[in-house]
Amino acid sequence: RMPVHPADSLVHALRTVPGDRTALAYFDGRLGYAELDDLTDSVAGHLAARGLERGDRVAILLQNSPHFVIALLGAWKAGATVVPVNPMYKSGEVAHILKDAEVSALVCADRAWEAYLRDTAAGSPVRIVLTACELDLQTRGDARVMNFERAEPAADADDLVAVARQGHPAPEGRDPAPSDIALISYTSGTSGTPKGAVNTHGNVMYNAERQRTGLGLPDSPVYFALAPLFHITGMVCELVACLTSGGTLVLAYRFEAGVVLDAFAEHRPHYTVGPSTAFMALAAHPSVTPGHFSSFKVISSGGAPLPPALVEKFRDGFGPYIRNGYGLTECTAPCASVPPGREAPVDPVSGTLAVGVPGPDTVVRIVDDEGQEVPFGEQGEIVVRGPQVVPGYWGRPDATAETFPDGELRTGDIGFMDARGWLYVVDRKKDMINASGFKVWPREVEDVLYTHPAVREAAVVGVPDGYRGETVKAYISLRTGTETDPDALAAYCKERLAAYKYPRQVEILPDLPKTASGKILRRELRSRSQISQ
Ligand code: ATP
Repeated sequence: RMPVHPADSLVHALRTVPGDRTALAYFDGRLGYAELDDLTDSVAGHLAARGLERGDRVAILLQNSPHFVIALLGAWKAGATVVPVNPMYKSGEVAHILKDAEVSALVCADRAWEAYLRDTAAGSPVRIVLTACELDLQTRGDARVMNFERAEPAADADDLVAVARQGHPAPEGRDPAPSDIALISYTSGTSGTPKGAVNTHGNVMYNAERQRTGLGLPDSPVYFALAPLFHITGMVCELVACLTSGGTLVLAYRFEAGVVLDAFAEHRPHYTVGPSTAFMALAAHPSVTPGHFSSFKVISSGGAPLPPALVEKFRDGFGPYIRNGYGLTECTAPCASVPPGREAPVDPVSGTLAVGVPGPDTVVRIVDDEGQEVPFGEQGEIVVRGPQVVPGYWGRPDATAETFPDGELRTGDIGFMDARGWLYVVDRKKDMINASGFKVWPREVEDVLYTHPAVREAAVVGVPDGYRGETVKAYISLRTGTETDPDALAAYCKERLAAYKYPRQVEILPDLPKTASGKILRRELRSRSQISQ
């Protein structure tokens, strides 16, 4: 059954929320619902007048700024499919996506257009370009939401804000149906060439609904966009969930702990979702106080492992309980999360924190290599069926058949379910370390490292070893003002883990490499350790 009717769509919500209510807050600027509705009508009208048809692709390469939201809603009102792209991607990565998704229109920062995107787009199908003069963290002093039109737009591009102010009416008859493609979300490509997961409007609306109802939020909630909007978590759990509930979405360009804490103090948000690394950075900031978190009703973490020690440190130090959630781009962000008001159990054997329970209408199963379901407590691959699971990958029937046999998503994650229905994620199948035939899951070792008071971030990888085949190596960054050394950290783990699991090599780095969505990049650490072998 399709869980949402098109009338529930974001576009409909924009037209029904009281117009003077604040939709977006960006530093000291605010934009109301009526204005956002008018501006996005005009962008849609412009795109349609330039020949953009229903279902055509519009790529957006922007940070968390009002421009992102205006471009997204404008494109959706024109009936287009949006391709959100990490604005930090290099030319080759963007070129692949523009070609693969056959993108007709591109919205990007004017500086990026001048610097490299004009050349990147030259050989692509892009024929409509809108540039945005995004304020960055350096220029935020004079930020007024709609006051940053570019004085002299490039000759080969239109200025997004100027177009938004032209007052074009939105084209008729382009409201999305649940089965229309809302987004093509490219995976980061850790397992081969990036593939575009096709998120329908039905997928998006179903999961956004889970992030706005039953959380105990007030009628006009304030959401803080901690996750990047180009990533599925930020897009669905923050942007769409917030605006469909008539709330205010607070944007702060790009994650920077001090800026985020200032915005918490100023805007008093009720809800946010971020990767666990963002909470680690906030907790380690010198100016953080419990007061920064006193307005929150709920805080969710998703998209990356959440160490139990961080949840405790956060609650003891600042008050809120961080609620875990598990998901993938292929299931439009979460498919399981901790029900509000409950606390996730920690598995007594492995010390892993549960990620939650499957959402309504969602079936999560644990299967062995033959696809047979395993008993409670036993490990296997996590597979998901539900209204948030995408129909497949864009233009990739083989990969679709492999990852979604019979419409069920094979996640590539290893996990288990306890008898009460709590789901636990052990690790990614491909991250398993094979030390002399013993299986080591990096997460278990990382969870132990996070209980050490000096550890800020930890990542464990397998490195080649002449004797064992692979051995366990830990990369660590330290909390400011603490001291320890690699031998002490190895000894600390040795006391708490079986002999084949503790890291025989430990390296301390100033910071660990992360993806734009805040996940620690084990893959980069793995190749770094191979180079230094
Ligand atoms: P790629 O799939 O190309 O490697 P990616 O890691 O950025 O890219 P996402 O869809 O953003 O892809 O991430 C999904 C993965 O994140 C899951 O498969 C799982 O391994 C991990 N993950 C998500 N939530 C959690 C959680 N709560 N606990 C542990 N791991 C999680």
